[in-house]
Amino acid sequence: MALAWAGLIFGGFAPGQKETTPPSDSLPSLPEPDGRLKCLIPDRAVCRGELLGSGCFGMVHRGLWTLPSGQTVPVAVKSLRVGPEGPEGTELEDFLREVSVMMNLEHPHVLRLHGLVLGQPLQMVMELAPLGSLHARLTAPAPTPPLPLALLCLFLRQVAGAMAYLGARGLVHRDLATRNLLLASPRTIKVADFGLVRPLGGARGRYIMGGPRRIPFAWCAPESLRHGAFSSASDVWMYGVTLWEMFTGGEEPWAGVPPYLILQRLEKDRARLPRPPLCSRALYTLALRCWAYHPADRPTFSDLEGLLQEAWPPEGRCVREVMEPGALRMEPGDPITIIEGSLDSTTWKGQNSRTFKVGSFPASAVTLVDPPPATRPVLRGTPARGERHQRNADGDRGKAKLQDAPQARGQRRNVALQRTKGISKSLESVLSLGPRPTGGGSSPPELRHARTGPQGPPGRPPHLPMATSSSQPPRERPSWPKREPPNSHPIGAPGASKAAIPSGGPLSDPELQRRVMEVELSVHGVTHQECQAALRATGGDVVSAIRNLKVEQLFYLSSWSRADCRRILERYQWDLSAASRYVLAQP
Ligand code: AMP
Repeated sequence: MALAWAGLIFGGFAPGQKETTPPSDSLPSLPEPDGRLKCLIPDRAVCRGELLGSGCFGMVHRGLWTLPSGQTVPVAVKSLRVGPEGPEGTELEDFLREVSVMMNLEHPHVLRLHGLVLGQPLQMVMELAPLGSLHARLTAPAPTPPLPLALLCLFLRQVAGAMAYLGARGLVHRDLATRNLLLASPRTIKVADFGLVRPLGGARGRYIMGGPRRIPFAWCAPESLRHGAFSSASDVWMYGVTLWEMFTGGEEPWAGVPPYLILQRLEKDRARLPRPPLCSRALYTLALRCWAYHPADRPTFSDLEGLLQEAWPPEGRCVREVMEPGALRMEPGDPITIIEGSLDSTTWKGQNSRTFKVGSFPASAVTLVDPPPATRPVLRGTPARGERHQRNADGDRGKAKLQDAPQARGQRRNVALQRTKGISKSLESVLSLGPRPTGGGSSPPELRHARTGPQGPPGRPPHLPMATSSSQPPRERPSWPKREPPNSHPIGAPGASKAAIPSGGPLSDPELQRRVMEVELSVHGVTHQECQAALRATGGDVVSAIRNLKVEQLFYLSSWSRADCRRILERYQWDLSAASRYVLAQP
């Protein structure tokens, strides 16, 4: 079965996903630039600082963006990795797709894109999430305290809201995991990393993976692993795995299970990830519903927002000191989050939100706090209905139990040590789902940064963001510009590319120098050498040089032909920002 899937992705594009190259003479009607869309940011306005992390496309740095008013804004700057031959086509494609998706999103729990620096390398200027990824926070070693359970529930609600928003916009995220949730503040999470986002298509609202790409298989729903099918329902499955990560302190799902066995465990054994000790039965029931085998049986993200409300762990307050050996220690007034307990049981299990310790305690030591109506939970002492229905699929109690979930607190250091391994495995290719002679399920750490599949031919072209990603094979394009290309090649000439722009020597003519400056100041993201070359190619005509360079810039951002790019620019009165927003916003 894994082989069938491998065949599908090797076989190129799925049925019905043939390329349809947009006819160059039929541009869609051009809307006015949307005020909500983000801007192009000049290179000089962004100052990069400390490295925050590295991802599939390159590095993410902390930065400061200076607005035209002089005001500075802390930002995160994601740069596209550029090798000696320029970025790989697929990386550029994913990078631009991420820009294209993010520029149209506006939600309190979706990471915000401020703009794009059209320089070399291309850079995304994003909202800074100063506290980093949730995964890093969950696995931070002592003395960093674990996160309170009530806060995890709050994050779950925020993520459900953000995902409902994405689904309503016809998008599937495909990489929902704690590593892609960023902490904008101690109590605010943001969904990030939109490199794998795809538009949902067709009557069935699915996206079928059409090429060999890497996916985070341990987070994936069975239909994604088997058929490469992604939908809002497969995002819901991933949400269940994300919940599981949160309550295990960032453990790796299906750790130790070889990749090719995961699908078999899910389908044949009907196994599911086990209930983490910190996860209440009600919340685990919710996760099990996300892991319903048939996508249609899973709740929607909007449903989940309501279901979470019901599964919210009740809050209590300690009314007497508990010092008994083996019991969770508490002092009067301590806030206690109840994980397990019913009104007729004498012992409850919970987390002391002052000490973050988890354990059992006499029920008489805690009184329930009446929660605000918006977050009123249901105290559940017995498995909820949904959980009973899922008995066969319940990894916690069923035969197919895979592993004993470790005590999350005691395992924190181990978890931190396993972190790199876990992340790397998460993005391994589905192509590796077949048995391996070496055994073991993990892949080298580099894979974390190699989301893209087998490399295409050198100089593979940038791909039209979103529009052609799923349905069109790449169009032939010249290689990415190099900073100091060896040979002269006039811009705009047939076969011209940025790679062919000569560096040229210093120009002695002051008038020509002045013109070069003028061109440089007029076109976003171009180098001095490119301006010199453009002027040479136009015999010193500044206006033509500026226009040619703008055409080139737009050409590299889109999959339109140069002639189309020229027409788009003409329609936007040669405003490169507006034209760029237009091509990037194309569905
Ligand atoms: P990505 O390429 O999106 O996977 O990002 C790689 C890493 O950079 C993440 O795991 C984060 O640790 C960090 N990072 C990415 N974006 C941001 C941001 N906006 N604010 C803070 N850290 C970020």
